[in-house]
Amino acid sequence: MKCSSKFPPHIAEKTQKHPCYSAEAHQTYARMHLPVAPVCNIQCNYCNRKFDCVHESRPGVTSEILSPDAARHKFLWVKEKIDKLSVVGIAGPGDALANWQETKATIRLIQEIQPDIIFCLSTNGLLLPEYAQGIVDLGIHHVTVTCNAVNPEIGAKLYQHVNYNGQRLTGTEAARVLLENQLHGIEYLTNRGVMVKVNIVMVKDINDRHIPEVVKKVKELGVFITNIMPLIPAPGSNFEYWPQTSMKDINAMRDICQIDIQQMRHCKQCRADAVGLLGQDRSQEFRMCNLQQQK
Ligand code: SF4
Ligand code: SF4
Repeated sequence: MKCSSKFPPHIAEKTQKHPCYSAEAHQTYARMHLPVAPVCNIQCNYCNRKFDCVHESRPGVTSEILSPDAARHKFLWVKEKIDKLSVVGIAGPGDALANWQETKATIRLIQEIQPDIIFCLSTNGLLLPEYAQGIVDLGIHHVTVTCNAVNPEIGAKLYQHVNYNGQRLTGTEAARVLLENQLHGIEYLTNRGVMVKVNIVMVKDINDRHIPEVVKKVKELGVFITNIMPLIPAPGSNFEYWPQTSMKDINAMRDICQIDIQQMRHCKQCRADAVGLLGQDRSQEFRMCNLQQQK
């Protein structure tokens, strides 16, 4: 995957070492997710963050929640043990922006140790209007926004509720507010040279036929790549018994959308505490309780 020339050269160069944004990098460069963001401000029907299984790789799953200071210690430990660690990401288990103080403090602590490491955030985008400038100011050049629908009627079937400005919104109102904030935030970031990846969870009979429209819309906003992912029915979630999207259907949809924008095809749907190369998760080896036992 080549970076578009609209991005500044130093960001394009960094992206060549980002295992998620560059297919060429994913077998060489490692990433670590620091689980410092436990809270989420929305409830997706496919998510249950209460359920942790050490054998499971799925967004929102983690075996530990860390304070920024503990995250700093973990970074030093992993950096010593893993060559070619190129990315530190905040990917939950909740939303990176709903835990902005922890996210910001963690990034600052790690920047003091290694300023040139690539930082990456994942968010549902609800708080992007509030924090997009903060993301730019922190020097974060890679942001993933999950945007599953650009039609609030469809979004209403995917989200149970959205907590915004002290109010719990539901139905199309919730989906509309979320969507407006996502679209404004994405555009704000791409206009400032941030590489935005959009994740889309493909849910059979809900947004599956709608995905090309989502892709076209985010392309207009300057998104670099889209990552169409299968629904993995999480135990205890509202979609627990919904059919898992087949990879055959995912790949067919990626082929359709490839005409508009490049497609990520090597996503491993990683845990919020994932460590290592994509597809070779070492999260259990690098649990902080193991470090404490070694001391
Ligand atoms: Fe779960 Fe992420 Fe949705 Fe929040 S935004 S409910 S953490 S999937
Ligand atoms: Fe990369 Fe996908 Fe894993 Fe996120 S979930 S770190 S995009 S491979």
